[in-house]
Amino acid sequence: MELFQISVRGVVQGVGFRPFVYQLATKHKLTGWVCNTSGDVKIEVEGEREALDQFLVELESEAPPLARIEGIIAAGAPPQGYTQFEIRHSIAEEGRYQLVSPDIATCDACRSELLSPEDRRYRYPFTNCTNCGPRFTIIEDIPYDRPKTTMRHFRMCPQCQREYDDPLDRRFHAQPNACPECGPSLELIDGNGRAIACDDVIATASKLLKEGKILAIKGLGGFHLACDATNEEAIQLLRDRKRRPFKPLAIMLATLDEVKEHCFVSNDEERLLTSPECPILLLRWRENSSISRKVAPELKYLGVMLPYTPLHHVLLRETGLPLVMTSGNISEEPIAKDNDEALRRLRGIADFFVLHNREIYARYDDSVAIVERGKPQLIRRARGYAPYPIHLPFKAKQVLACGAELKNTFCATKEDHAFISQHIGDMENLETLEHFENTIELYKKLFRIEPRILAHDLHPEYLSTKYAKELAREFTLVGVQHHHAHIVSCLVENGIQEPVIGVAFDGTGYGSDGTIWGGEFLVANYKGFKREGHLEYVPLPGGAAAIERPYRMAFSYIFTLLGESILGQELPFLEEVDEYEKEVMKRQIEKGINSPLTSSCGRLFDGVSALIGVRGKIDYEAQAAIELEMTALDDIKNSEGYPFSIVEQEGVKIVKLKDLFEAIILDLKNRLPRGIISMNFHHTIARMVVEMCHLIAAESGLCKAVLSGGVFQNRLLLRLTADALEKEGFTVLTHSLVPTNDGGISLGQAVIANFAFSN
Ligand SMILES: [Zn+2]
Ligand SMILES: [Zn+2]
Ligand SMILES: [Zn+2]
Repeated sequence: MELFQISVRGVVQGVGFRPFVYQLATKHKLTGWVCNTSGDVKIEVEGEREALDQFLVELESEAPPLARIEGIIAAGAPPQGYTQFEIRHSIAEEGRYQLVSPDIATCDACRSELLSPEDRRYRYPFTNCTNCGPRFTIIEDIPYDRPKTTMRHFRMCPQCQREYDDPLDRRFHAQPNACPECGPSLELIDGNGRAIACDDVIATASKLLKEGKILAIKGLGGFHLACDATNEEAIQLLRDRKRRPFKPLAIMLATLDEVKEHCFVSNDEERLLTSPECPILLLRWRENSSISRKVAPELKYLGVMLPYTPLHHVLLRETGLPLVMTSGNISEEPIAKDNDEALRRLRGIADFFVLHNREIYARYDDSVAIVERGKPQLIRRARGYAPYPIHLPFKAKQVLACGAELKNTFCATKEDHAFISQHIGDMENLETLEHFENTIELYKKLFRIEPRILAHDLHPEYLSTKYAKELAREFTLVGVQHHHAHIVSCLVENGIQEPVIGVAFDGTGYGSDGTIWGGEFLVANYKGFKREGHLEYVPLPGGAAAIERPYRMAFSYIFTLLGESILGQELPFLEEVDEYEKEVMKRQIEKGINSPLTSSCGRLFDGVSALIGVRGKIDYEAQAAIELEMTALDDIKNSEGYPFSIVEQEGVKIVKLKDLFEAIILDLKNRLPRGIISMNFHHTIARMVVEMCHLIAAESGLCKAVLSGGVFQNRLLLRLTADALEKEGFTVLTHSLVPTNDGGISLGQAVIANFAFSN
């Protein structure tokens, strides 16, 4: 007889791990106990050595689907003479923390109960088990037990309690366990906040959706706004009310087969789409799809997800329509989560509200992903992923990094974990700032983090920077350059620590010299960076106005690079700019009035987009650049590309763009189709990256190139650039776990701050 004391680290709570241990121990005729603590799962098992060894092997190899084991420690101890195996009550331990599971899409077993008329949970919208359902959105503190979740208000009926207590049941210790007898329920409210009496909320809601109504539907981490995705009028109404004329809307479809009717789906895409994380996936849209083009005007890709809650499954089946399912907010505010909040904020947008009485503790948007070059890539990291940490290749200090402005996330490091928050949003209003502050407190509490070091962007006007500066008395502050953070975020998720060539292309990032960077070539590691090169500077006439109106960028490029005479030439985009505004821009550029200099690659895409007549004014971030990508005839393989030159000034390599603009204008005069010009332009940028990397490699001897920054959300550019670099012998590192856009910045900041004090 021998005894093992075992501790298991990872996501092992709230995922059916203890019943699994119970069954495993029973199978091998072992006695002892298993118990959750605030840190890890502790096990004592007693029995024959051979059975104990086998138990240890299967503990890892047979673990439940949602468990993520990070480490198992086992040690021998004197036998205690246990007579049975039992599951003991959780123990809270001071200062210890455990990983919290993200919310997980409805599992197959629950779905089949949901759709079986004879099952007691038939059509019950809150069905869940230890393998699926809400986790992070309902947990208020650890250890993860029902009294510490928003489910504590619901007392289980005898039948649910029996399931909950039975170690052999799929619902053993499933904290959100519920049924129609005892669990949360739905309620239908009209646009004026009055309750509507109806026996069957889902049936009534499907009827309203079929009639073209807009519904606010409470989900896992907040509200969706839903309408019929084939009904042009309904979509237009939603757009008018949301004040979003063009921004693409996400779609939910009932089944994978239905997705395939509307979109092309590769094997890799299918795997991600049907995974327990169930993100919105951007899929190539079929020409003959019945989904209205108004869902994603001018785009080739459609944001699609499958149902991930029982409510979605029933609603989608009964409505029988593809549904728009977009975040329940107005423009850039955070997603609404509480009933009264939704009734207040979404009044005037939704015709009806489908509410429920299970409280959402943490706001949690849908994640968005793509599969490019066979690799899944998160563009927005939230539901299904956060708060699961990124593994760090070093032992970290406790640091809180505040992230950037747009698509903000924050990141807290501890031990070998980087806890990146779920997507917070664009930090441009007080609601989002409040969401940011509340979520920081939640992460500090859940993961027992007490940071003393605060990392922030160099941009003095970011709300995240201001948040950090206000805490300067209590914390040590570390300012981190934006593009350095981009490159390091990509290095960390790839587990690389050595110096690399970093290509950081985005719209805006505050440079160390006070100008606006965004087309940057760095040599960087965790400790520092050197700016080896960049795109040449041009003025941003009118600052923010030049971002909202890309024709101002087009004007700036041609006027700055080609001189006054170009304005006399026949250029279609110029004809649409008012004469007075042209004079204002000229003065701004010549005198440097409200015209900061920028090396931004995002602005270069904007400028070309406007110049060739794709998009001169935007409704959502990067719209002009995105539509330029969509215009490109991407089946042209052997594009020539346009000329450019690289000059060295004071040891820095500058990409000069005069030749590029002259060539594009010549093509415009020759009436070359926009699709070809756009394709040539994409090839040109890819070649710029390759040539710059060669020059930097020749001096530094480095052969790994990192691609990061929001511009690399451009799939065509990413593909062309990464392929070309690989062909020339570079090892290319790209993003997968964290967004290439500013949603990844906080991870880079946190890691750089960790290394700011070492020698
Ligand atoms: Zn389930
Ligand atoms: Zn019940
Ligand atoms: Zn950026």
